[in-house]
Amino acid sequence: MARLYDSRKRILVTGGAGFIGSHLIDRLLEQGHEVICVDNLFTGTKRNIDHLHGHPRFELIRHDVTFPLYVEVDEIYNLACPASPVHYQHDPVQTTKTSVHGAINMLGLAKRLKCKVLQASTSEVYGDPAVHPQTEEYWGNVNPIGPRSCYDEGKRCAETLFFDYHRQHGLQIKVVRIFNTYGPRVHHADGRVVSNFIVQALRGDPLTIYGDGKQTRSFCYVDDLVEGLIRLMGTDSSVTGPINIGNPREFTILELAEKVIELTGSRSKLDWRPLPADDPKQRRPDISRARELLNWSPTVQIEEGLARTVPSLRERLVELGEMNQAVHA
Ligand code: NAD
Ligand code: UDP
Ligand code: UDP
Repeated sequence: MARLYDSRKRILVTGGAGFIGSHLIDRLLEQGHEVICVDNLFTGTKRNIDHLHGHPRFELIRHDVTFPLYVEVDEIYNLACPASPVHYQHDPVQTTKTSVHGAINMLGLAKRLKCKVLQASTSEVYGDPAVHPQTEEYWGNVNPIGPRSCYDEGKRCAETLFFDYHRQHGLQIKVVRIFNTYGPRVHHADGRVVSNFIVQALRGDPLTIYGDGKQTRSFCYVDDLVEGLIRLMGTDSSVTGPINIGNPREFTILELAEKVIELTGSRSKLDWRPLPADDPKQRRPDISRARELLNWSPTVQIEEGLARTVPSLRERLVELGEMNQAVHA
């Protein structure tokens, strides 16, 4: 354990320069804790944590979690891993290494420190689900050899490691299965659907619909997710997860496109593209377990969440000189 002389904790957040990690760090600092952010800046950027530069309780270590890490902390949130299909398929071998070797190193660290460790797992462990909505009991329907497998199977193996360290070494683990999450700071070019649609609508470009647009997803606003992560970390050792955290309101991708067009007042049209391989047809979390064990449920609905996200992407496009000012004056 870290040796602080009051009730503050020293908390490690891997992947802390990423979209979700940077929001988590903001909340932990607000609560008065010390935060060590470990990130290799593969998909994350210093921009996400720029506002913390010089903060007395914040420290950034540029480090790749596939290598051992020796620090002294009280809690570990393991978020390091590219999350967008475009990013995690860019270097699939490194994606698997990040999930698997990264998990082993963070578990080894937690074992030495006898501290709690939380794993950011994913709804992708359910693959293209044959059970709907997805409960934590469902074992999933995952292709082990497809283009998404580096991520899906990497995250599944990480879950296995977490539960084996728990059974074999008595580690206090917390496994959270995160469903599609969005919000400010999501990278404008990361290829995920919410950022793609908003960026395309703001530029006046056509919105790219993959397949027939009838596949569904459920979108969770980042503040709600962060609240869920912190509540899960705060549970006693009997709560290991896995626990689904996500917003159970389900939309087709086409409905999402329509919402974004309406909200931005864009004149963008739709551009139909082929469906990527192994793209799940439907996804919606059953959050009964989160409600019961964490007293958690989402509070921000999609209309409000999108309205909070658009300004951050608009600002970014203006900075990059990519905003179609004529369409969106
Ligand atoms: P992100 O890409 O913005 O953040 C991931 C961060 O991890 C980045 O800052 C990246 O630089 C860092 N990273 C990647 N490989 C690393 C390595 N080897 N060593 C150190 N740092 C490394 O993605 P995000 O959306 O913030 O996702 C954070 C976590 O949540 C990921 O583990 C992801 O799998 C999980 N998750 C996210 C979603 C979502 O919808 N955003 C859904 C399910 C699960
Ligand atoms: N590890 C680490 N930091 C630590 C302790 C361990 O990065 O403070 C790494 C260590 O390098 C090892 C991994 O975590 O590769 C797993 O550690 P564990 O103690 O479970 O296994 P062992 O060291 O016996 O292989
Ligand atoms: N999608 C789309 N257009 C885009 C980006 C994504 O139609 O520009 C679709 C994609 O095929 C998938 C859904 O939106 O069905 C969510 O994709 P994302 O990459 O955001 O996340 P994931 O597939 O991992 O849930």
